[in-house]
Order: sequence, then C-alpha cells, then structure tokens
Amino acid sequence: MIPITVVDVRDAESLVVEVLRSGAIAQGPMVKRFEETFAGVAGAKHAVAVNNGTTALVASLQALDLQPGDEVITSPFTFVATLNAILEAGATAKFVDIRRDDFAIDPDAVAAAITPRTKVLMPVHLYGQTADMGKLVPLAAEHNLAIVEDSAQAVGAAFDGKRAGSFGTGCFSLYATKNVTTAEGGVITTDDDDLADRLRVLRNQGMRARYQYEMAGHNYRMTDLHAAVGIPQLEKLDELTAARQRNAKRLSEGLAGTLGLDLPQVLPGRDHVWHQYTVLVGPHAFLSRDELAAALTEKGIGNGIYYPKIVFDYDCYSGHPLVPGANVADFPVAAAAASQALSLPVHQHLTEEQVDTVINTVREVLGT
Ligand SMILES: *Cc1c(COP(=O)(O)O)cnc(C)c1O
Repeated sequence: MIPITVVDVRDAESLVVEVLRSGAIAQGPMVKRFEETFAGVAGAKHAVAVNNGTTALVASLQALDLQPGDEVITSPFTFVATLNAILEAGATAKFVDIRRDDFAIDPDAVAAAITPRTKVLMPVHLYGQTADMGKLVPLAAEHNLAIVEDSAQAVGAAFDGKRAGSFGTGCFSLYATKNVTTAEGGVITTDDDDLADRLRVLRNQGMRARYQYEMAGHNYRMTDLHAAVGIPQLEKLDELTAARQRNAKRLSEGLAGTLGLDLPQVLPGRDHVWHQYTVLVGPHAFLSRDELAAALTEKGIGNGIYYPKIVFDYDCYSGHPLVPGANVADFPVAAAAASQALSLPVHQHLTEEQVDTVINTVREVLGT
C-alpha cells in the first residue's frame, strides 16, 4: 500500500523528551521557540500558537469584534472547519464560487457578493496553493474588509513571493496530516502588534497578568509537548516542501495527456506546497471519480476525496440562521470539483519508484 499520508515525527524525540524531563509540559518556552521559528517560516512579524487550526480561525474572527449580522465571505469548497469557525464566532457565512484552476474563491464573484454587512474576506488556500491574492487584497482594501486567511493547508506557500498567512491574519493547522504537524495544533500569524497582543490575551482566558482579565477569553493554548513535536519540521520545511514539489512535478509529467484527467496547475507567481495533489476526473475519463478511487484503493494506491460535497450541503446547515440562502445550484464550479476531485499521494516520504507506481496504476486503470 502506498499511503496518501505518512506521519513521521521521530526527529522530535529528543526535544519531546527534554520537555517531559523538565516537568513544564503546558505552554512555556518551547511554545515560544515554536512561535519564533514559525514567524520566520511564514514571513510574518508575529506567530501566536493555539491548540488547533479551527481555534486559530475562531480567535482571529473574535479578535475583530464582529457584530451579529456581520458577514464573512468564504469558499464553499473547503474543510468544514472553515464554516464552523465562522458560526462559532457568531458571524454570517456568505459563499462565493471558486475557480477551477486554483480551487479558491473567484475574485470576480467576491466583488459581486460584497454588501455593507461584509466585514471579512476568508480565502482558503486549498491543497497548498494560495488564492488569487493579487486581486483579493486590493478588493479587501477598497471595501475596508479584514482578510483572515485559512492557510491550514498552505504553510510555506507564496503569491508573488509573499507567504500565505502574511496578507492578513494567517490561520494555520498543525493537525497530524498537515504539511507541518504537532499532532493537534494551530498558529495565527500577523504583522499587527496590537492584534498579536490581543490574540495572546484571548488565548489565555483574557488574562494579561495573573487575575487581570481584559476580555472574555478562552483556553486556546498550545502545550510545550506539542510545540516540541513541530520544531524540527519547521527547521527543515524547505526540504520537506521541495520533496513534495519534486513528486508533484513527476506526477504531472507522468500523467500528462491522460484522457479525461485535469491535472493540478501551478499558476504563475505562485509557490505551491502540495498539501494535496488533486486531479479532476472529468466526463471523458474511462472511469468516474468514485470508480477510479475504488480501483486505486484495490491496487494499493492510497487516495482521498477532498471534499465530496459543498461544505454547507448537509442537513445540519440547512436553515441555519447564520448560513442564509446558501444554495448548491449557485456554485457550479465548486459542485463540479466536489464530484470530480481525487487526491493522489504526493507527500515527502514517497520514493521515485512509488511515484512511478502511482502514475502507472492510474494510467492502467484508466486504460491510457
Ligand atoms: C485542517 C483544516 C482546518 C482545521 O484545522 P484543525 O487543526 O483540524 O482544527 C481548517 N481549514 C482547512 C482548509 C483545513 O484543511
């Protein structure tokens, strides 16, 4: 079996043991060290570590002091955490369709969806490539919108050399299967001193100093044990990303011309970090997406469907007061992606031989 993800954090053993021996296992010096290293990697002035990527999104929205009725524009083609974070923050979720080339929100659709209640633009940098920040940033500036980037899948990605998470408030996930992991964890990046300060207070029960509460806060803290798991990966992130990029290039060369498959594109000016290598299985392919997935699984090629449905297309969101008027029919590009997207193994632990096995098996079962 060639798995779709491999979690290998053995290089963290000595740092984790150091934390265990110290007895100071909750948030402490290792979290601080993680934050300093992460800020460097993300090209941001501040990094605030939290307990997962979802709380990174929630805290970033809470720090904006949104009022009931304030709208957040985001993608309908994303992991459910994006939507849940908006709802948790009490904001109204507004969706716009994605583009088929980068799987991220279409700036023209965003422009058409902005209302006087719109306060936040939340692009999702899906699969490791950023959204079209060249168009989204000026649009946000023109309408005075905050940008909160769902960068959960995009650590190290860049648009015109500027890193994901440095265009607004950057929200990263460190879940086990993400490009950098602490088992569970999250990080918020910002260049804004004031915002970073508020996020640090918010993360710790709204407490500035002992029993000095400045806001109704929460416990969003990361532990030193988790921080220790992630530090070695941050230190060699360029190497990990380069391996993913090499694998993606080999996959694209090997799969070029496969009938019915749309291969993922790296758009001009964007550095793709290949959290996923996702093809679209179109109507001219010999097998449907689901048939291809099943055939690959049977032949020992791990694969994944991210995501099988539009994010709000579940009973628990239909009629939800904070998801008003969302209708699947309004998002044809996202709906097509949900029925055609299939991710193939691209992670840094693959050998060239395994990449070739993925290519040959896909071609074989598609008969081309
Ligand atoms: C993983 C992920 C999240 C949530 O991160 P957790 O650490 O699992 O809470 C949010 N958005 C996207 C797009 C993700 O892939």
